[in-house]
Amino acid sequence: MGEMILPNRESAVADGQFLARLQHVGKSFVSAGKRSEILSDVNIDIAPGEFVSVIGPSGSGKSTILNLLAGIDMPTSGSITYDGSRVRGVSKTIAYLTQHDSLLPWRTVAENVGVPLEIRNVPAPERARAVDGILAKVGLEGYGKHYPRQLSGGMQKRTMLARTLIYDPKTILMDEPFGPLDAQLKLALQAELLRLWTGTGKTIVFVTHDIAEAITLSDRVLVLSSQPTVIKHEERILIPRPRDVHEVRFSPHFEAHYRALWNAIELRREQAVA
Ligand code: ADP
Ligand code: MG
Repeated sequence: MGEMILPNRESAVADGQFLARLQHVGKSFVSAGKRSEILSDVNIDIAPGEFVSVIGPSGSGKSTILNLLAGIDMPTSGSITYDGSRVRGVSKTIAYLTQHDSLLPWRTVAENVGVPLEIRNVPAPERARAVDGILAKVGLEGYGKHYPRQLSGGMQKRTMLARTLIYDPKTILMDEPFGPLDAQLKLALQAELLRLWTGTGKTIVFVTHDIAEAITLSDRVLVLSSQPTVIKHEERILIPRPRDVHEVRFSPHFEAHYRALWNAIELRREQAVA
């Protein structure tokens, strides 16, 4: 059995050198004059190279947590540190695939994937090389000139993945990236994501509704309570890597992890997706 490369992970944790830390984080929103507390006392430590999933009921604050980590929103109380310093704005080393991200329909695949480099003023020839490289990596070689509408749902997701990865971020935040896809396609994209991540040492924080998906991908799964939200449960996934997305569910650990997470999560029946 091959081994996943997680550089300095154990020693980093022992030294207290977490890549990202949320300490006693609270978050309230005021809307229509009414203040509501969404996060109450959220504590999360993420080690460098770790794959952490966050699951929880709809409205529990999963996207809010990613927004805070990404630095596009600020906590009401508590502190968030990333790479040793307080998060005060958007970090150049964090890529964020939000729940609402989509491709620009009037731009080709290559033009969509190149957007993060355009924003960084990378010259066109260098950009074109980078785009070609990343398209090959995600299995979209030769599709650069296509428009999003000419692609299948899975290929559109791959394009978004390529756009997220193109500037080689150290940390990737993903908010329900494979949400609306059918089960087979989801498995294919999960396999792709694991393949792209393995050996890179990149840290991924992955939000999903899907318990099986969280188990399949993660080193650790955090379960949020409903509001005001705290981390209700933490499950360390013991399934060895490398993992075959089609085989993990037959691992002796899978059922125990599934039960523990199912019992911890407060899904309403109609939201239950597995
Ligand atoms: P989840 O991603 O777990 O479904 P969110 O983090 O999107 O949940 O939202 C958590 C709660 O915070 C929801 O009740 C939502 O309506 C509220 N909320 C999120 N963002 C804002 C905002 N900018 N203003 C007011 N309320 C917000
Ligand atoms: Mg959300």
